[in-house]
Amino acid sequence: MTEAAVRERPVTSRQIKVGDVPVGGGAPVVVQSMTNTMTYDVEATVQQVYDLNAAGAELVRVSVNGSKALNGFREVVWRSPVPLIADIHFDYRMALGAADAGAACVRINPGNVGNDDRYRQVIEKCQETGIAMRIGVNSGSVEKQYWDLPKHEALVASALHKVEVAEEMDFFNFKVSLKASHVPEMVEANRRFREHSDAPLHLGVTEAGTKLTGSIKTAAALGQLLPYGIGDTIRVSLAEDPVEEIPVAYQILSSLDLRHRGPNVIACPSCARTLGFDVIGMAAQVENRLKHYEDHFTVAVMGCIVNGPGEARDADYGVAGGKDDGVIFSKGEPLRKVGRDEIYDALFEEIAKDGRK
Ligand code: SF4
Repeated sequence: MTEAAVRERPVTSRQIKVGDVPVGGGAPVVVQSMTNTMTYDVEATVQQVYDLNAAGAELVRVSVNGSKALNGFREVVWRSPVPLIADIHFDYRMALGAADAGAACVRINPGNVGNDDRYRQVIEKCQETGIAMRIGVNSGSVEKQYWDLPKHEALVASALHKVEVAEEMDFFNFKVSLKASHVPEMVEANRRFREHSDAPLHLGVTEAGTKLTGSIKTAAALGQLLPYGIGDTIRVSLAEDPVEEIPVAYQILSSLDLRHRGPNVIACPSCARTLGFDVIGMAAQVENRLKHYEDHFTVAVMGCIVNGPGEARDADYGVAGGKDDGVIFSKGEPLRKVGRDEIYDALFEEIAKDGRK
């Protein structure tokens, strides 16, 4: 992946490794997602893991929700191009089986995995196999003893208890997630947790919603945490094909100047000054073609020659529509004027001249 220079952020966590992927301690924020196939359907699951990886997922979580799924996982894990995280709810024995099967990490939910003895057995298995663990606390499933606390406090108390048990066993190879579907609760929980622990954090808004609402909620939450060093891996949970989550995740990271994958398209909203130039259509067409590029650069689609180039002064390439023509510009300066029908091709000619791909 092509990475452009990124903004520095405070380092507030220690580093662990999930497979060969460093998480925390100043490593780039890791993008992950989760399959939604039946894990026992090995072909479909492997295919989705490949699709997620091709889109940019660096870690993939797979549900191991029973012995049939565990059998499937055993095969998927060896065919996967990325380290896999086994997602475990309720049955801690699935975590033991997944660790033996080759998982790079097991995600357990303290709220439903049972008593601390079972939890300790999972830790021992992680120590024996040398793999990581994620302590994944969700606001909908915290243990009963925390129900009287405000939700964000319940999340923190539940997570810190499990952290303490793990550290007492000399086990530090874990990350933690504190998820809620309510953005302020999730943000507060993660901030407060960070005051007590330097464990790497996986961030996400749970049950975030459909593509539009889920993306906005996740961006609103992550924007309050990531720039301050809180958060080491992220997932954008959408009620969608999980592959759709990945560009959203990178867009969030890119907007915060933390990681860049692929070009950045900016476009003006258009107004009466466009004189008939279809800014919206052109922006969509340009963005669609640039989807396949990995280099990071900025392309502007602006509606008028009067204000466009100036407003998009920082763009590497741009087009500003005119009455019957358009100006191709770079860094706010006009390069050449072309007929309206030639704008699209002329813009990509300029991009190709620099060998962008
Ligand atoms: S760049 Fe021109 S067309 Fe676009 S919003 Fe600004 S003034 Fe209107």
